[in-house]
Amino acid sequence: MAKISINLATGALQKEEIIVGIDLGTTNSLVAFINPDGNPQVINDAGKGILVPSIVHFDEHNVALVGSEAACFLLTDPTNTIFSVKRLLGRSYKDVAEHADVFSYKIIDDDSDALVKIQAGNKFYTPIELSAEILKELKARAEHALKTPVNRAVITVPAYFNDSQRQATRDAGKLAGLDVMRIVNEPTAASLAYGIGLNPSQQKTVVVYDLGGGTFDVSILQIQNGIFEVLATNGNTYLGGDDFDRAILNYWIEKNQLNFQEIAKDHVLMQTLRLKAEKAKRALNALSPQSLFNEQIGEIWCTLDKKTFDNLIAIKVEETITACKNALKDADLTTEQIDEVILGGGSTRTNYVKEKVADFFGKIPRDDINPDEVVALGAAIQADVLAGNRSDILLLDVTPLSLGIETMGGLMDVIIGRNSKVPTKAGRQYTTSVDGQVNMKIAVFQGERDLVKENRKLAEFELKGIPAMPAGLPKVDINFLLNADGILTVHAVELRSGVKQEIEITPSYGLSDETVEKMLLDSITHAKSDVAERMIVEAKTAAEQLVYTAERFISKHGEFLTVAEISETNTHIEALKTALKSSDKDIILNKTEDLNEFTRPFAERVMDKAIAGAMKGKRVE
Ligand code: ADP
Ligand code: MG
Repeated sequence: MAKISINLATGALQKEEIIVGIDLGTTNSLVAFINPDGNPQVINDAGKGILVPSIVHFDEHNVALVGSEAACFLLTDPTNTIFSVKRLLGRSYKDVAEHADVFSYKIIDDDSDALVKIQAGNKFYTPIELSAEILKELKARAEHALKTPVNRAVITVPAYFNDSQRQATRDAGKLAGLDVMRIVNEPTAASLAYGIGLNPSQQKTVVVYDLGGGTFDVSILQIQNGIFEVLATNGNTYLGGDDFDRAILNYWIEKNQLNFQEIAKDHVLMQTLRLKAEKAKRALNALSPQSLFNEQIGEIWCTLDKKTFDNLIAIKVEETITACKNALKDADLTTEQIDEVILGGGSTRTNYVKEKVADFFGKIPRDDINPDEVVALGAAIQADVLAGNRSDILLLDVTPLSLGIETMGGLMDVIIGRNSKVPTKAGRQYTTSVDGQVNMKIAVFQGERDLVKENRKLAEFELKGIPAMPAGLPKVDINFLLNADGILTVHAVELRSGVKQEIEITPSYGLSDETVEKMLLDSITHAKSDVAERMIVEAKTAAEQLVYTAERFISKHGEFLTVAEISETNTHIEALKTALKSSDKDIILNKTEDLNEFTRPFAERVMDKAIAGAMKGKRVE
């Protein structure tokens, strides 16, 4: 077995193996590396193009196709063509319900806080699995272009991504067979691409204005001593270049005196118009301000000049400027205090956008690095730093292994991720799984594997004296504080009652360099099976919970149901119990969905009756 040495101070693996940088985007994804000259470079495998549309199509045999070829199916097979999956990563149905109409594929509404699933054909996919398909494609392209195995990567995420979205990104990487060395904020990567932060003695305040296909975000970073601190972020996750295309399309429909409702029925025509609108938008940015875009689709005239285009998008661009204002306010800064404004995202190629950003900040924004490559290029630089190839950069102290607690089904829930800089603090809220539960076991683990039994147990304690409440009601906050010496303090408190408990642990004691190496190597070797196993455990846990709730419902509120309904519910419960004996995630999810679907109206009925009962009991005096 190859021996990999690890720099314990940084958590970095030191070997001459390449580490790539990946920009996993909502619209497009791409991969970059450091070329032999020491410069970052994007990968264009066999002339297939640099940008890989973040689209996955599944055929009838559940075989995945990624990129522009998958995009062709948006029209012919929309229900099995998944786009914008990044919006769903680490989210529950409740999180995305408001925008459910944006997606033309099936998102499972299990009316709960559980993470979303997407159905394509007869299979269920988590956003993690779908993102993994995109990452696998990028990995394959990098391997093909560089003629070397690629097993490690730095992946970027928006600065506003929360813990579970970051963890989901990490898991997607693992599932794609990549050891994710670090998750980096997109604006941090963009700054690195411009060389900002590479000189430790330099202090700068930077704005990164990132306008992509469907999302906009602005981040304000303070960079000093090699530390990138996000002072503020703002934006709109449903605003981007797609809105510009739509505005042009609507303009043409109006100009040609067409009926929108009629045209909208013709999906092929709509798509053709949309593509033409995107072409017009790009063309105008490349041409002189006086030029006119003028093409035809059949009888429809598609003409556009810069002034009209600017007017069409002005409202949207104004919205982004308002977001910039708000971010500045949150960071308590004025535009004069900003040293650099950096542009990222393909839509910042729009001249009008550049003009407005320059007007607002009172300085010319940097766009000398291709805005749709800037994030991936920066990720490659970060990868190079982690590989130990840039001794000029001050490396932060980081924890070499993840720290977390055991949750249902024996899963490791990471609270402080590996490579987090110390000191650091992180926490999460948990609840009970059984009615009337008064004690909660808190077991702390260290390691990268998804099942705690594969990791190293550091400590276990019990939070006692939680007042008896129905399952799910107690709110237990668990906080980890890792100080600069590597001492971990775990603090647990039940918020409703104030019951609390604290414990101090020294996580790295007794771990030799070899042990850490082995734990990391194991996590790389078992990455795929771990994530797969975790998905099964999650499906099982959700199913068991539902069986428990459904059975309890029947015994408590049986009088609200007909005999036939009770018997059918029991049939669904039995089917789910049988499915639980298998280890097939899709069967379990299918049966869970069936039971969910069937029982969903019941709760409402009980509520209605309860309200009616309460009303009846009231007397008007
Ligand atoms: P994301 O980060 O969301 O994945 P990208 O940064 O790849 O997205 O941006 C994609 C968007 O950039 C699309 O809306 C596309 O139309 C737009 N875009 C690409 N090139 C240009 C251009 N030359 N002028 C205007 N918009 C462009
Ligand atoms: Mg982007």
